[in-house]
Amino acid sequence: MRDRASNLAAANAVEQTHLLTRFWNDGFAQDSTALAPADRFIALAFLQPYAEWLAQSGHSTSAAMRHATCSICASEPICAVLRDQDHVARRSLVCSLCMNEWTFPRVVCPACGEDRFESLPVFTPQEIPHVRIDACESCHHYIKTIDMTKDGLAVPIVDELAAVSLDLWAADNGYQKLTPNLAGV
Ligand SMILES: [Zn+2]
Ligand SMILES: [Zn+2]
Repeated sequence: MRDRASNLAAANAVEQTHLLTRFWNDGFAQDSTALAPADRFIALAFLQPYAEWLAQSGHSTSAAMRHATCSICASEPICAVLRDQDHVARRSLVCSLCMNEWTFPRVVCPACGEDRFESLPVFTPQEIPHVRIDACESCHHYIKTIDMTKDGLAVPIVDELAAVSLDLWAADNGYQKLTPNLAGV
C-alpha cells in the first residue's frame, strides 16, 4: 500500500487522474475486483470526502439504478442502521461512498429485492449484540446492520468496519458482502 501510494504520488497527473476517473466512472462499489485492492483503497479514501461534500450540497452525481443504491451517487450501501422512531425500529441504508442515508424497508434484501421473511435470516453475535448480519438465502448476499436501538452511541461506519469477525463468519458460511468497506473487507 505504501509503495503504491508513493509511486502514485510521484506519477504524473495523467496517471493519477486516470485512477480516480476509473474509480469514479466504472461502478467502483459494484465491482470491487475492477481495481487492485491498494488502488481501490487510495481512490476511495481520496474521493470519499468529495462525494460526501457533493451529497451534503444536494448534488447528484448519478441516477440510482435501484432504490437499494444511493440516490446521490448510485453506490451500494455499506451498512444498514436501525433507529427507534415512535417505538418502531426504522431501517435505513448508508452509502459506501458519500455517506448519504435513506430509508429502506426492513424485510427486503437490498441486493435482489427478496421480501419473504423466511428467506432473510438474521445472525446476531453474542459478543457484539448491536451489530448483526442480515443475509439473503435467495442471492446469498449480506449486509451488516448497526442496531442503534440496542446501542444509541454506535457510529455505523466505524462499527461496521470494526466488526470484521462477522465478515469472516459470513464468508465461511457462503455469503457475499454487498460491497466491501474502506479496508476492502
Ligand atoms: Zn452515495
Ligand atoms: Zn437477495
